[in-house]
Amino acid sequence: MNQFRTRLIVIFVLLTGLSVLAAGIFTAKLLEKSYIDSLKDSMQREIRLIAAGLDTRRSGNQAELVGYYNEEAKQLRDSAGARVTFIGADGTVLGDSDHDPATMDNHKGRNEIVDATGRTAGFSIRKSDTLHTDMLYVAVAMPNAQNGQLGFIRLAMGLENVDSLVRAQWLFLLVGLLILFVVVVGVSYRVAYGLTRPLEKIMRVANQITHMNYRSRVPVTSKDEIGKLGHAINTMADSLQAQVDRISENESQLKNVLENLLSGIIMIDKNERIVLLNRAAEDFIGFGADEVIGKKFDEAKQPFEFVQLIGECLDTREHIRDEMLFYYPEERILEINVTPIMGADDEWAGVLIVLHNITAMRRLERMRSEFVANVSHELKTPIASVKGFAETLLAGALDDKETAKSFLKIIFDESERLNRLIGDILELSKIESKRIPLQFSPVEMKGFVEQTLHVMRSEAAKKRIELEMSVPADMYIEADEDRLRQIVINLLSNGIAYTPEGGKVKVTVEPLATGVEPEYERIRLTIADTGIGIPRKDLPRIFERFYRVDKARSRSSGGTGLGLSIVKHLVDLHKGTIAVESEVGLGTRFTIELPVIH
Ligand code: ADP
Repeated sequence: MNQFRTRLIVIFVLLTGLSVLAAGIFTAKLLEKSYIDSLKDSMQREIRLIAAGLDTRRSGNQAELVGYYNEEAKQLRDSAGARVTFIGADGTVLGDSDHDPATMDNHKGRNEIVDATGRTAGFSIRKSDTLHTDMLYVAVAMPNAQNGQLGFIRLAMGLENVDSLVRAQWLFLLVGLLILFVVVVGVSYRVAYGLTRPLEKIMRVANQITHMNYRSRVPVTSKDEIGKLGHAINTMADSLQAQVDRISENESQLKNVLENLLSGIIMIDKNERIVLLNRAAEDFIGFGADEVIGKKFDEAKQPFEFVQLIGECLDTREHIRDEMLFYYPEERILEINVTPIMGADDEWAGVLIVLHNITAMRRLERMRSEFVANVSHELKTPIASVKGFAETLLAGALDDKETAKSFLKIIFDESERLNRLIGDILELSKIESKRIPLQFSPVEMKGFVEQTLHVMRSEAAKKRIELEMSVPADMYIEADEDRLRQIVINLLSNGIAYTPEGGKVKVTVEPLATGVEPEYERIRLTIADTGIGIPRKDLPRIFERFYRVDKARSRSSGGTGLGLSIVKHLVDLHKGTIAVESEVGLGTRFTIELPVIH
């Protein structure tokens, strides 16, 4: 930009210098010419005055004429302020103020004389032979002059005056030029600065834009071409910024998607280096992105089979799917999809690995098949005993009436158990598959608990177990009454079953007040017994299907091992929670919390 400015200034200075020089030369020439012209005029006039005071018609011999004119010339020298020469019509010098006419040659051929011959006056400027300075010669012809008479009067004047005048003019011009030069440099600097400054600003902004500062703008003040350029740069910056914004928005969206994807994504480029790893993948392989990005895939400390799988896809460039058990950082079954990826120009660009955590799915499948195995096993036991006792009866035990009766009782009990078991299994599968929606209605808790306890009374009475309740009046909750009863009955019958004779089972309902408000959003339902309790190690598992602390005891109490599973599911359906506390030998307490309104 400085170069441009200097160039501008040089051009300005050169142009003005040249034009001032040209103007100077022109005026000097003009001045010289006009001075010489006026000199010519005045000298002509002088010659005529001289002629008027002379006897120009005088004739005679040469010596006589020379005597007269030479004397006159000498006298006129001072008043004319010039060299005076009288020349005869034939060119002979008759008199001269400065020289002896006898030494002077014929002047007929002198330019001014030739010029004046036949005209009024003639002029010539040339170096004087004697004085060696520029002289102006003005000659005026005497009309009708004959040979032997005065033909021309000539005045000669040195041009030193004109020269010094022109020199003074030049000096003046030079000083003027110098001043002008300074002024022009100053002005052109300002003009150039004014021109280049906005350009510099535009350049700075353009530079910033190339360095990705898209927010930089040119302050546009003028409406000229530079203003338009600034405006164009700003528009360009606007559109660049908009594009960059859009790109970065897309990028952050993509990044968000990638980071929040539950599937793990790993990208490996064609140089076999890991270039991308999302959060789920970090979690799956147990390494942070910063630890593995840039590394080769086989340097990332991964299970051998996994590395082999990637290597295979890198070799064959074909999609591979597999499932693998990972032990680190957590035991997990991962589904692995390794796919070759194509770049923009349809060129092979590496592989993409997609990891899905299928642990829960596989566990569920395992649980399903285990459930089927369990169910078959559970069903087999009562069926085997029904079959066994029936066989024994058929083999002859029927004859012994007492034995037959006790066997039939066992067969009846076992089929009853079978019935219960099938009922529970069906119930559980119905609840689990959520095929039966809950029928919510307001339930008045006090009445509800009284009724439920009533159902269980005869059962409790058999073991002389006391049933107690503590429920505030006028307490309502929104629930499916039948399902709620199923929950309480299951827990009560467990309480009765696992409490020795003479024990106690108590049902308590209380509001769960939040803050100081008398209103409450949840209620707490507690069923506590004074029974045998559950060992600490079994507590986490008692809600599992078919889980029993003591198989034999459960069987003798007629349990199926499904009761608590059903309870747990029903509580979940009511958006409630269930917890258990127990102390072996002291008793067990189940605490359920339910929302009042759904
Ligand atoms: P079951 O039909 O065998 O009672 P549940 O699912 O109802 O099956 O209970 C699972 C196991 O939890 C029972 O076998 C029993 O060992 C234990 N259990 C449940 N309730 C009680 C309780 N109130 N006191 C002691 N043990 C209990």
